[in-house]
Amino acid sequence: MYKRQILLRNAQRLHSEYIQTYLDHGGYQAAQKALTRFTPSEVIEMVRDSRLRGRGGAGFPTGLKWSFMPKGDMVKYVCVNCDEGEPGTFKDRYLVEQDPHQVIEGTIIAAYAVGAHEAFVYIRGEFTLGYRRLIQAIAEAYERGYLGRDIMGTGFDLDISVHRGAGAYICGEETALIESLEGKRGQPRLKPPYPAQVGLWGRPTLVQNVETLANIPHIILNGSEWYASIGTEESTGPKIFCVSGHVNRPGNYELPMGTPLREIIYEHAGGVRDGRQIKAIIPGGASTALLTAEHLDVPMAFETLRAVGSSLGTGAIVVMDETTDMVEVARRTMAFFAHESCGHCTPCRVGSVQMLEILERLAAGKGRPGDLEKLETLTSIIPDNTFCPLGTAMVDPIASSLRLFRQEYEERIQ
Ligand code: SF4
Repeated sequence: MYKRQILLRNAQRLHSEYIQTYLDHGGYQAAQKALTRFTPSEVIEMVRDSRLRGRGGAGFPTGLKWSFMPKGDMVKYVCVNCDEGEPGTFKDRYLVEQDPHQVIEGTIIAAYAVGAHEAFVYIRGEFTLGYRRLIQAIAEAYERGYLGRDIMGTGFDLDISVHRGAGAYICGEETALIESLEGKRGQPRLKPPYPAQVGLWGRPTLVQNVETLANIPHIILNGSEWYASIGTEESTGPKIFCVSGHVNRPGNYELPMGTPLREIIYEHAGGVRDGRQIKAIIPGGASTALLTAEHLDVPMAFETLRAVGSSLGTGAIVVMDETTDMVEVARRTMAFFAHESCGHCTPCRVGSVQMLEILERLAAGKGRPGDLEKLETLTSIIPDNTFCPLGTAMVDPIASSLRLFRQEYEERIQ
């Protein structure tokens, strides 16, 4: 069993949120090393060689993303995406609550690599404890010379401020996050141009997820080869899996990428409640296609989940046992997405409500002939016709549920 904790190594320590605890366990040594021994280009190269992929859901190669930021002495920004809103996901919140300095250190290194001197943490408004701890940690970092002017005597300057979001799922999308930071309604922008070219207030901007940034100090300290030796060929490093639903020990489990679902559910999360059978599994947050007990031996990695028609997403595993009403699960999932549709484009704004109306009828046992065909039509036309990925996100769990548990839906009509 994997025992070594990397990202969560401080999380269970007493006073883990304070800078002294962080420093006592090697904290800020990676920032010191990056800022004194490597050029910004060398840092980007190390991150690229580690093959770290973003942990916010899309899995884009982090080093490549950093390399898209223009070189040169212009104003650039880093935005830390802590707007974690994917149902079933609670890792970024845990990281900022339990080890905020690890996230700050990752942000310092990222800012140095891309040449930014100002960073903004966009944190979900409901994360009150995380917000307080982050504010306190940033103040401590300023006091000790890890933020502000001439960080650690290296000549590098960085200011970090924290902005609380108002709780909109779509603000986890990087361009909607930028709009919201600018004080506008949180709606996605047309891409291209990408934030690396035109981001916050029109300046090149790197938007990076909290867990992704928490990985950075470890890559700098231990090297990209060490990092790439953890996990699988295409999905390297450790991953925090959030396990919830009908398991005996729900929680955050840090394991290497590629750990099979069976091990995560049965060895780490204590198995299914009352020894029941598994009926369905959400592998990567509510927006990912459902799996069943047949998939228990699938390694949790980007490429392997894609091969079985789902995705790793945020690594949020929701386990549902044999007593679960799958039509009700679909109704609740769609109620969430219909509520969170930002309203900018018609297929998502109207399509989500149409899907919800059908699912509400079915869940109440009042389905009409033709409802399933209408649902299928909507799941096939919405994804390619929306302005942002939320259109696909809301359709995948419903389409997979309909395919895997069709009989349950048919019974609601008969
Ligand atoms: Fe907004 Fe359209 Fe994206 Fe839905 S798909 S969240 S309506 S931009």
